Amino acid sequence: MKEIGSSGFTKQRQAVLQVIRESDEHLAANDVFEKARKLLPGISFATVYNSLRYLKGEGLIGEVRFGNDATRYDRRLDRHDHAICNRCGMLVDLELRIPNGLVKEAAERSRFQPQSIELTLRGLCPECCGSDS
Ligand SMILES: [Zn+2]
Ligand SMILES: [Zn+2]
Repeated sequence: MKEIGSSGFTKQRQAVLQVIRESDEHLAANDVFEKARKLLPGISFATVYNSLRYLKGEGLIGEVRFGNDATRYDRRLDRHDHAICNRCGMLVDLELRIPNGLVKEAAERSRFQPQSIELTLRGLCPECCGSDS
């Protein structure tokens, strides 16, 4: 993991980064705010939000966006895929082996120069499937 330079790194940014790194979930800005407040009472939502943007810009955290859903923040920076629950919004990391042919086909159809490809599985999480148990 990338280390944090000492200059320009406020307590607030530090706290926000800590929240992301310590969570194995993909937190939305609101969740980050709730947790950051426990570390730094008095931190404002605006500060948390600005810190998230800063950390993202510095490449210290990842960002996951699906359509109109709230942006989620990710401690993982490497390429990976996600599964998202259509009912409760649970979001988990997963690793899929992307066949080379898929990237090639996507590149050909879009006429883009490919850099990365990510897949999202949408469906129902185990908890939402087995709602009786
Ligand atoms: Zn669910
Ligand atoms: Zn992730």
